[in-house]
Amino acid sequence: MIVADRARAVLKQVFGYDDFRPGQREIVEAVLAGEDVFAVMPTGSGKSMCYQLPALVDGGLTVVVSPLIALMRDQVRQMRALGVAAASLNSSEDDESRLDTLARLDAGKLSLLFVSPERLAAGSLSARLRQAGTRRLAIDEAHCVSQWGHDFRPEYRQLARVRETLGDVQVIAFTATADRTTRADIAAQLFPNPPRVVVHSFNRPNIELRFEAKDRPRDQIETFLRRHRGASGVIYAASRNSTERLATALSERGHNALAYHAGMDPAQRSRHQDRFLQEDGIVMVATVAFGMGINKPDVRFVVHADMPGGIESYYQEIGRAGRDGLPAETLTLYGIDDMMLRRRQIDEKEISDERRRIEHRRLAAMTDLCEVALCRRQSLLAYFGEESGPCGRCDLCTGRIEAVDATEAAQKVLSAVARTGQRFGTGHLTAVLCGEATDAVTRHGHDKIKTFGVGRDRDKRAWSTTIRQLYAAGALAEASEEHGGFCLTEKGEAILFGRERIALRPPPARPPAERRDRRQARNARFQGLDEATTALFEALRAVRLSIARDEGVAAYIIFPDRTLIEMAEQRPTTLDELRRVQGVGDRKLAAYGEAFLDVITQHT
Ligand code: ADP
Ligand code: ZN
Repeated sequence: MIVADRARAVLKQVFGYDDFRPGQREIVEAVLAGEDVFAVMPTGSGKSMCYQLPALVDGGLTVVVSPLIALMRDQVRQMRALGVAAASLNSSEDDESRLDTLARLDAGKLSLLFVSPERLAAGSLSARLRQAGTRRLAIDEAHCVSQWGHDFRPEYRQLARVRETLGDVQVIAFTATADRTTRADIAAQLFPNPPRVVVHSFNRPNIELRFEAKDRPRDQIETFLRRHRGASGVIYAASRNSTERLATALSERGHNALAYHAGMDPAQRSRHQDRFLQEDGIVMVATVAFGMGINKPDVRFVVHADMPGGIESYYQEIGRAGRDGLPAETLTLYGIDDMMLRRRQIDEKEISDERRRIEHRRLAAMTDLCEVALCRRQSLLAYFGEESGPCGRCDLCTGRIEAVDATEAAQKVLSAVARTGQRFGTGHLTAVLCGEATDAVTRHGHDKIKTFGVGRDRDKRAWSTTIRQLYAAGALAEASEEHGGFCLTEKGEAILFGRERIALRPPPARPPAERRDRRQARNARFQGLDEATTALFEALRAVRLSIARDEGVAAYIIFPDRTLIEMAEQRPTTLDELRRVQGVGDRKLAAYGEAFLDVITQHT
């Protein structure tokens, strides 16, 4: 059998999948042909399969470098559940399991060994791996090697040396970071010769994109969550404090919400993570410390309660939703405070000017994405260098919100900024525009200026939207001496004096009413399954949970939702029929087949 056919056969036999996902075949074939490969694919597209499968097809040992212990543990469990000889070496193992792993390594009994970079760089392990006949080195989250990336880890710098010690073995590296500077840096650092680079489309069509300017953020989040009762999801917040406050507030309103951040007691933190992995319907309110290494395939939503600092991290974070390919929703809240805070953070960092310019450019791309008038996905993919048409699955496509000429409104704002001395913030400016004689306004005599009250035709909320958009568009900048105050940029002056026009999106309407959300809830969660199928799916989920509890693993390690949904739809009655369901390989068929068939028969 030629190698490619053998790979297909193993894909079905071990993993239970009929076909490769886009991009996987090319990578797997190149890897099996012995080429060095550098694969750039979005989160959730199935990167792990690209090193798992070759390890099973051509035998020998694949050493997988992975930055996070949780990720390794999860992968080892998944591999073992499939009957694959896998183990890990990192700082969290006790002596007994470490010795056991080393013995299996020496005896040539391992197919996959997951190792942390520090473990690999330290002492004699790489010599031992060479002795054990390591065939290839697979480097996961390869962007950790680059300081241009958003997750730089100094230990990754040692990997080139490790590769040499291993006898210049085949190297395959994976990342979801698409930034060009970072990509080039990764290739230069990890590979002795230029590798084959496979860049897979960054589009994740099952993920719905939605952005809202912060208005009443708690309510906005609540409204969103109402559509996702019983589903697992993540809410990212910018600070440790805000994760705890939000988790408490949501719990009080009946959600199953838990907090997660790096400052928590480690035992509690890992308890929260375990519950998120194991149970259905946990809402994890976390800082960005949470998520790398979370392989849970059935995360149904990701919310950003604060604007992310860049598009790479944003995309990686929302990419944690819908890895199973089923519909998932995202919501990103943003406000002018986020934008200003992020800008200040970059200015305050002790970094080179070149680096600062890069970071400002990245931030500007993020604010642009918040304020674009085009399809979100189109803008996002354009950032990653891909051309596409309007997606039909983002707030701008479905809401048909188009930018319209807003030069006159912009001039009112810019004039208010100019006439008040270029140092006041949103609150003061909107008061002036709407003709509100607040204490501060009268104290400064701003009720006497020409701009006072010229914006009475719109409310303060609408004006603050315009101010934010002008800031994001670079027509306003932060006044250096005043916290939160604005001054005009060159572009701002050009608009004020009529040399340039500007188009902006009108402020959106308030969130839709509750009844519509309820109806959407079932669709979002069960993909429009009919009632009987839904009931069977729930019953299958219940068996899955009880098996998972018995075995002490996460539910999705037994079977992902997608597999259960197919079972509920196809209602197989024999092991042979069950075998045809996606995600049912030999090992799982033997271990769990009967239990699931029982439930199906009882329901039919
Ligand atoms: P990534 O590492 O790219 O973020 P994963 O490797 O975790 O993504 O894969 C995401 C999910 O897709 C996993 O649940 C995995 O089992 C599943 N998967 C991978 N390859 C296939 C395939 N060919 N067919 C169906 N499902 C797949
Ligand atoms: Zn769109």
